[in-house]
Amino acid sequence: MSTYKLVCPCCNSSMRIRTSEGQTPCFRSMYSECTNLLCGATFSGSLVWEYQLSPSGIERPLTVLPTAPTKVRLLARQNLKSKNDQPDLLDQLEMERA
Ligand SMILES: [Zn+2]
Repeated sequence: MSTYKLVCPCCNSSMRIRTSEGQTPCFRSMYSECTNLLCGATFSGSLVWEYQLSPSGIERPLTVLPTAPTKVRLLARQNLKSKNDQPDLLDQLEMERA
């Protein structure tokens, strides 16, 4: 499992989220600041969930997003895959279908 590290676009130092506000279940406004005291830049932005890569395991999920197009799903799976040298049969099948 990895943790996404926010990086300041001005100086490449780490940033921290000062506050965030959920607008909808899939859209969140965020405000962040650079932790480099010499930089101190602040930003506003957003986090959006656009597609669902796999279904929820619960019986009645509160939100169901559109299923990601094949290429997006394939790239996301490759990014999520842990670093190992074993071939992934599902990737192979999707590449043959695409
Ligand atoms: Zn900075």
